[in-house]
Amino acid sequence: MSGGRQKSEMALTGSVLRFARASMHDGRGLRTVLFLKGCPLQCPWCSTPESRPFEPQRGYVQDLCTLCGNCVDACRVQALARAADEKDEKTVTFDPEKCQRCFGCAASCPQNAIKKYGHTLTVAEAVEQICQDEIFYFHSGGGLTISGGEPFCQAGFTANILRETKKHGIHTAVESCMHVPFSQIEMALPWLDHLYADLKQMDSRLHLLWLGENNGLILENIKKVNASCFPLVITIRLPLIPGFNDSDQNLRESAQFCAGLTNIREIEVLPYHRLGSDTYRHLGLDYQCLDLTAPSEKYLQERATFMRKFSGPLPVKTGSGLI
Ligand code: SF4
Ligand code: SF4
Repeated sequence: MSGGRQKSEMALTGSVLRFARASMHDGRGLRTVLFLKGCPLQCPWCSTPESRPFEPQRGYVQDLCTLCGNCVDACRVQALARAADEKDEKTVTFDPEKCQRCFGCAASCPQNAIKKYGHTLTVAEAVEQICQDEIFYFHSGGGLTISGGEPFCQAGFTANILRETKKHGIHTAVESCMHVPFSQIEMALPWLDHLYADLKQMDSRLHLLWLGENNGLILENIKKVNASCFPLVITIRLPLIPGFNDSDQNLRESAQFCAGLTNIREIEVLPYHRLGSDTYRHLGLDYQCLDLTAPSEKYLQERATFMRKFSGPLPVKTGSGLI
């Protein structure tokens, strides 16, 4: 690669939510997880709703606010005001129509009650942060996991980070919803060791109803990565959502679909949980899964056992990772 091209690729920027360090749920060993922003699906149970849009978002944690008024004074377009909310509680009201996303309010808040979800990083900056954890990867056999949001939506950024990380001998993984053009996944494959591919619902109509998109592209992409010639480990992740995808029919069809693909290593069934529901409130969004109950460990195991009847030699594990 020419020096000029490498320089421009290292300067490529991406929209990043945050880093999480020493995770044990997103691949082998201790992982540094880089959460990117931007996702094409609208899963109502998503535990990181602040990762859905590409742009940075503003959140407000009312419990931390002392109503000092600094943010109101800092806002030059009067998007904020001290007032009573619909429950007649004193609060800082926010007018999204007026907001210009300058985040001066977040910088002015002494309580950290106003959050800025998201920022921009270059490839070089991201790789520098990843390499800070090299000693943990060395001792635990861990590495980098890029999650989201949807990492392949920012295909160039993701591929460049993976390539540079591999130069340091670090193990790489990506967690993907797989609802992106295959060309964007393909860009990353030469530098990817482990792909966690979501499979949420085999019934395309239900997929469309709950997630806003049908499952055709996802199923095709899983078949294509399965047929790729790279020495790639593929885990299919199924988030178990009561009432959405825990039926006998869906679990049977999911297991049979995976069993027909020769290069899948395993299926991992993850339980629905409510982590992240507070973030919906901070973003001023409704959490649509209030009526859902997290599946018990016993039910999770029973559903995994059921899938094993149809998965042939393919192992079906249960996990505790975030969905
Ligand atoms: S982000 Fe800027 S414009 Fe928006 S409310 Fe905060 S200070 Fe005002
Ligand atoms: S600056 Fe922070 S603590 Fe003060 S009113 Fe605004 S949100 Fe509340």
